[in-house]
Amino acid sequence: MGFLDDVQASLNRGVAGANRGVESMKLKSQLNDANKRRSQLAAQLGASLYEATKDDESFRAGREQLYDGIAQIDQERSNIQAQLDEIERQAAESAQAAAQIECPFCHTRMSATDLFCAGCGKPMAEVQA
Ligand SMILES: [Zn+2]
Repeated sequence: MGFLDDVQASLNRGVAGANRGVESMKLKSQLNDANKRRSQLAAQLGASLYEATKDDESFRAGREQLYDGIAQIDQERSNIQAQLDEIERQAAESAQAAAQIECPFCHTRMSATDLFCAGCGKPMAEVQA
């Protein structure tokens, strides 16, 4: 085996090593992707099983922490949703209050929640009629 054969052999080893590295990265990425898809399906399966079994004592046995944890989080979610709904209700209310209308008698701009026109003193009932 001459010098050039040694060089060729080590080049081949280098290329094979690089190919293994690329192949290994590709497989790890595929494995990662498969794990992700499995987790998503398992979560969907778990969610549907939870709904079907949450009141079944034989299913709950030994899994109380999981069932109670999910029930507690559902309670948290519903509290958070109620707070969000309240904030949205208040936002809609203040948007309503900020709505401007124009008095048809004197053309003064006024808030929709004013009781009287600041320009001519007409009551809101007449202004909006
Ligand atoms: Zn007016």
